[in-house]
Amino acid sequence: MKKIDLNENRLLTPATLKKYLEENDLFYLVKTIGTSVQGRSIYSAHIGTGPKKVLMWSQMHGNESTTTKSLIDFWAYLNTPEASYLLSSCTFYMIPQLNPDGSHEYTRQNANNIDLNRDAVELSQPESQLLRTVFDEFSPDYCFNLHGQRTIFSAGDTHIPATVSFLAPSADAERSITSARKDAMRLIVAANNTIQEFIPEAVGRYDDGFNINCVGDYFTSKNTPTILFEAGHYKNDYGRTVARQMIFKSIISMCEVIASDTLKSFPIDSYFDIPENYKNLRDVELCNVNTSLSSNSNLLQTFIFQFKEEKFEDHVKFIPQIDSFSKELKGLQKIDFQEHKVFKDLIFESEEDLISNLTKTISLLNFHQIP
Ligand SMILES: [Zn+2]
Repeated sequence: MKKIDLNENRLLTPATLKKYLEENDLFYLVKTIGTSVQGRSIYSAHIGTGPKKVLMWSQMHGNESTTTKSLIDFWAYLNTPEASYLLSSCTFYMIPQLNPDGSHEYTRQNANNIDLNRDAVELSQPESQLLRTVFDEFSPDYCFNLHGQRTIFSAGDTHIPATVSFLAPSADAERSITSARKDAMRLIVAANNTIQEFIPEAVGRYDDGFNINCVGDYFTSKNTPTILFEAGHYKNDYGRTVARQMIFKSIISMCEVIASDTLKSFPIDSYFDIPENYKNLRDVELCNVNTSLSSNSNLLQTFIFQFKEEKFEDHVKFIPQIDSFSKELKGLQKIDFQEHKVFKDLIFESEEDLISNLTKTISLLNFHQIP
């Protein structure tokens, strides 16, 4: 029987994760540490014997599965001989799916429709309470908060998709550079140095506006260096296999710095050299589309589409939705209607006709093979 391949499918349900861990002989490490609103198990793995404690969790937003895959890759790496020095210097506490109900349904929120990353103070949800209990009892020296981001983000004011973004969250409204924040920045600099070689200019930095309800900001305010990781888009890679690898490499490089006590050799100035994220991108741009909507006949127009991601049976469907056009925006895929025989002579009579036909047209397009 074919083993589960986590690579392409963005839907990563708790059932699939369990099966994958079992098939890859990793499930023996798992402990059940709590249950979700709908009674699904929340797992952890506790590996290593070293004095430096690192807490990592992923998929607190259920539709952000890529970094769970990276975390599982790291978990598997820890079981190889090369990782033995990490295990003697550090103890890793990993929670691969903090929000199993959202992971089952492919939703950001948990089953009570609460964003767990806005529940750090109120702790209204069992999943948020569990993370806080682990934080208090394990008392980590570092936290890795693993997420995924939409395709709209560019690294800086460019049209290069941010395949990975990082943030050293603020600890207060003044965005002070506290010692915890400094250490988070240094780790980000180390990871950025590593992955720039593979995805040059495709690393971004998130806005550091303070929100105490976000887990990263809350933990940083308690003086624990916390790093936000965001797995993003790479050209034509809607399965996010590139981001998965880059996050995996980033985790290893940060853990090596922690294990070897070389944190201070990474200057925080280099953190601010990482470009900030802009929202300059959308999934598809159709240009030179022939419409008779205006009084000028044969007016060629540009349309911008963004995919809405929805669970459909055992996978995620990308449903194109028309977005408002502005000059700053650029499509990750651009299709010039005048360059393709099948589109060239299409003329749309009304706005409804246009929207439904363009939506159908995009749905039919294979991302890579446009006639
Ligand atoms: Zn998220």
